[in-house]
Amino acid sequence: MLKAITGTKDILPIDIPNWNNLEGIVHNAMNSFNYNEIRTPIFEETRLFSRGIGESTDIVGKEMYTFLDRSETSVTLKPEMTASVVRALLEHSLDKQFQLNKLFYISPMFRQERPQAGRFRQFHQFGAEALGSTSPALDAEMILLAYNILKSLGLTNFVVKINSLGIPSSRENYKNLLKEYLADKLNDLSEESKKRYETNILRLFDSKDKNDIKIMEHAPLLMEHLDEESLEHFQEVKQMLLSAGVPFEVDPKLVRGLDYYTHTTFELVSGSVGSQSALCGGGRYDLLVKQLGERDVPGVGFAAGIERILLAMENEKVLPEVNPKIDYYIVRLEKELNKNVFEIATKLRIENSVEFDYTQRSVKAQMREANRLGAEKVLMIGGEEYERGMAVLKIMADGSQEEIELAELK
Ligand code: AMP
Repeated sequence: MLKAITGTKDILPIDIPNWNNLEGIVHNAMNSFNYNEIRTPIFEETRLFSRGIGESTDIVGKEMYTFLDRSETSVTLKPEMTASVVRALLEHSLDKQFQLNKLFYISPMFRQERPQAGRFRQFHQFGAEALGSTSPALDAEMILLAYNILKSLGLTNFVVKINSLGIPSSRENYKNLLKEYLADKLNDLSEESKKRYETNILRLFDSKDKNDIKIMEHAPLLMEHLDEESLEHFQEVKQMLLSAGVPFEVDPKLVRGLDYYTHTTFELVSGSVGSQSALCGGGRYDLLVKQLGERDVPGVGFAAGIERILLAMENEKVLPEVNPKIDYYIVRLEKELNKNVFEIATKLRIENSVEFDYTQRSVKAQMREANRLGAEKVLMIGGEEYERGMAVLKIMADGSQEEIELAELK
């Protein structure tokens, strides 16, 4: 039997109300904060991501779905959205049209990761990007936006972790300190961390290896070596979060591994979904646009994983109850009336949701189906009423019935 590819998932009709509910809440929140939707292609030239995300990251190094198309161009299914949004901003000169661009998206993403609970190869993210200002108010706004969305969805068992990676110069100084600290411990590091020591030393804080964790416990922290400007920016973000009533923890080990981050990084981490617990991650990326184009445009953003959030909602038992509902179910009393029922349904469907039987079921079975579909009204077509141009209308809530003229149905 043919099956969906490992790590991909069908979203069945029964799941769709949960997706629609989540997407509706995302749209409302984005609207309140004045973010406008952007949709970009599913695939891009590979070099956009290798340049935009960074060669040393796991995404570019091991996870991208990259292939040569028929004209030998290397293309990649998008593994995240920030690089695509920045490409679109530059290509369409949105930064020249508006000083500040506040954009949001809901889109599938693709990464060839090892599938497990909460980790897929095609998954969906919603997220936001604000491009054009270095104001700490936007860092705080991103965190507040993500926080509000999770709260509106009914989630309570999650924490907001924030950190600052500062500006590049203080980070470079700090990286040297970290190198010095690790110099005589290199042999004890895991193979992965040895590699990262050379390519992306901050990522050593992300290692799951027990020995690495022990070594990194006593490592100097970037937070303790931040310059004045970075500290001030971080202080303002924290103050705004406090005034907005967002509880947060400062986690000086939250590095998030992407080369382009500056200043604030953050994660919203769930206590309800097992090991893949990050529901949302983001941060400021004042260097990325310059890296991809000629122009200097500061940015800040976040991305949240929809499957993981729905899993957290399921585990916290806050998925909304879904009751099916249609306006009319048309019951056909005699088989010969199929064509007439079709005509009546067609007319009613201009203003109402309407269903009828396509399978020659008995009247009793049709009534059962009307109940299953949550029909508000049942219209019975047939008998001598029909010959008089009438039908019987049953209101399902109280069981009352009346005769109505077919010509007057709307
Ligand atoms: P990232 O772009 O890696 O910072 O991821 C942002 C969010 O997307 C994460 O916090 C997850 O909720 C979600 N996410 C990332 N990778 C996956 C995946 N392979 N499967 C499902 N969700 C994912």
